[in-house]
Amino acid sequence: MSLTTTPRPGDIPATGHPPTPSAPAGLDHCPFWPTYGPPVVQFVRGDGTELWDSAGKRYLDFLSGLAVVSLGHAHPEVAAALADQAATLLHVSNLFATVPGAEVALTLDRLAGGGGQVFFCNSGAEANEAAIKLARRWGGYGRHVVVSAYGSFHGRTLATLHATGQPAKHEAFQPLPEGFRHAAWNDLDALEAAIDPTVAAILLESVQGEGGVNPADVEFFRGARALCDERQLLMIVDEVQTGLGRTGQWFGYQHYDVQPDVVTMAKALGNGVPIGACWAKREVAAAMRPGDHATTFGGQPLAAAAARVVLAVMEREDVPSRATRAGALLSAKLEQLPQVATVRGLGLLLAAELVPGLDAKVVADAALAAGLVVNAVTANSLRFAPPLLVSDAELDEGVAILAAVLAQAEETQHATPGSADA
Ligand code: PLP
Repeated sequence: MSLTTTPRPGDIPATGHPPTPSAPAGLDHCPFWPTYGPPVVQFVRGDGTELWDSAGKRYLDFLSGLAVVSLGHAHPEVAAALADQAATLLHVSNLFATVPGAEVALTLDRLAGGGGQVFFCNSGAEANEAAIKLARRWGGYGRHVVVSAYGSFHGRTLATLHATGQPAKHEAFQPLPEGFRHAAWNDLDALEAAIDPTVAAILLESVQGEGGVNPADVEFFRGARALCDERQLLMIVDEVQTGLGRTGQWFGYQHYDVQPDVVTMAKALGNGVPIGACWAKREVAAAMRPGDHATTFGGQPLAAAAARVVLAVMEREDVPSRATRAGALLSAKLEQLPQVATVRGLGLLLAAELVPGLDAKVVADAALAAGLVVNAVTANSLRFAPPLLVSDAELDEGVAILAAVLAQAEETQHATPGSADA
């Protein structure tokens, strides 16, 4: 019997990556779903900002595994804490108390503003799922809608996909869970217009990361808080990419002098060990009852031990200040490159908009070949999110690699008949 299905009316044609990515080195076929593009490099080792591939070639990592390894690769204190925890207690389930989780929750509560409680999970999407379920429980029957912004990114589970304000990503997976609505980014009138009595919460990033590294305007973000107060809605801030020092504050919302009701985080919390968290004001978290939400691995000792040491090193190193300083330096260096039109972002979460005619994906690929890891966050802009402990010398070296790559890309563009400037 053939498993091939005949197309049906309304079927959405498959789009995106080729169905069969090329096999990783040493394998004769690809063992993975074709959800990611074909891997071009196989990394085998890292140290701080440096990475090495299976051929022994060295790279500078200015992406940190998508803003995850904020303390750099193979941080010795993180490695030691993991080894120690693995040899002590790995998992007992949330039916029992363990040591590191409570310590991490207390530290996160202090950094997030105090007066709250934490739910641990395993990823950014799960942290947002927890926030969405909390908003529904808090809002009560009939008051369940979450309003988020166009251009946002909140995850890939069905609910967080619908919260994600990128309709093109929704199409293949309809019908999505009900209860989501989007308003234009940085448009307070549009946000206000999206609110009706069914709305329980507004969900925003402080800087839209995947959407292109676009910081919220001050009036918009503060206005959103005021709207939440006025209409008695929860303000949920998604700090999955921006949280834990990356933008120059512990959380991006702290740039705006705004205190959310709920904050989600993940990426940098485990420096590569999967862990997410949803912080909520105590009186909001109180809407949840035993049995309302759970996850087997959430806050388990290994992940919590990673988060505990990560937060201790982050506080000792004062990573927000380091991100502010290094971010200003990197931004100034990028602005000097003739092929960079503008630089935007906060702290060490930056995007360089390239001059017209340069394709950011082509440039990112060329940078990788030249030993610098960055990514194309939009068709015309490159994202930079190096480890927060990056040295000035590494910033110099990375920008020098990029300068050479951009000069070459511009030359190729001029030499290509029919190109924008030809
Ligand atoms: N929220 C934001 C702002 C993100 O940037 C991401 C991932 O890039 C997510 C949520 C989803 O996180 P995860 O991939 O860990 O599920």
